[in-house]
Amino acid sequence: MTTVTVDDLRSLFARIAEAMTREKDRLCELDGVIGDADHGIAMELGFVAAAKAVSELDATADLTLVFNTAAKSFLNAVGASSGPLYATALMRAGASAKGKVSLNDDDMVEVFAAFAKGIQDRGKAEVGEKTMVDAWAPAATACRQAREQGQPLAGCLAAALEAGQKGAEATKDMIAAKGRSSRLGDRALGHMDPGAASAVVVISCFKDHFPSE
Ligand code: ADP
Ligand code: MG
Repeated sequence: MTTVTVDDLRSLFARIAEAMTREKDRLCELDGVIGDADHGIAMELGFVAAAKAVSELDATADLTLVFNTAAKSFLNAVGASSGPLYATALMRAGASAKGKVSLNDDDMVEVFAAFAKGIQDRGKAEVGEKTMVDAWAPAATACRQAREQGQPLAGCLAAALEAGQKGAEATKDMIAAKGRSSRLGDRALGHMDPGAASAVVVISCFKDHFPSE
């Protein structure tokens, strides 16, 4: 059984920030095709700011404060649509962790699902509308299903990643109904949604951070 502490969350944020720095150019290129080419910059700025802010919290910080601090920093750092979407995700994750000193496998699966639901509630996008929800929603469903089938956290996150990757891949065949790329109509066909691509990066970080014991 995994036990997730404040320190684990801090290093998870550092891991996501590093991954976004690595992936920034690819994400900007994807956004350049169907958007305004800033998605990689937005995700890097957001997660670098979040990682820095949580690293500066004092030792008495609890799990909810870590997520809420990350949310606030992400929102302040990012002017693009991904700002409020990820800030809401992080706030919901914080609410899900409320009152807990550490998170076990069940808690962490619920935090992951709350994170994904935050994005969906904030942006009001449904699956099939060519957004990050096409990666996050199936990832959260797969994560929960794996847990219900008795998988440990690592197995749940592996299932989440697989479903998220499939969902991101499927955005290539979609016409956007939400966000900037919805103005393109069928010219967006054939191109992966950048937000779905970055969601896969975030989900990969969750998976790599909690390997099987
Ligand atoms: P902007 O479009 O303001 O430049 P970003 O480039 O950071 O913002 O993010 C673009 C991504 O945001 C899209 O690829 C899409 O995945 C996501 N997105 C846009 N609108 C929504 C929405 N309403 N719900 C969910 N995701 C959305
Ligand atoms: Mg953009």
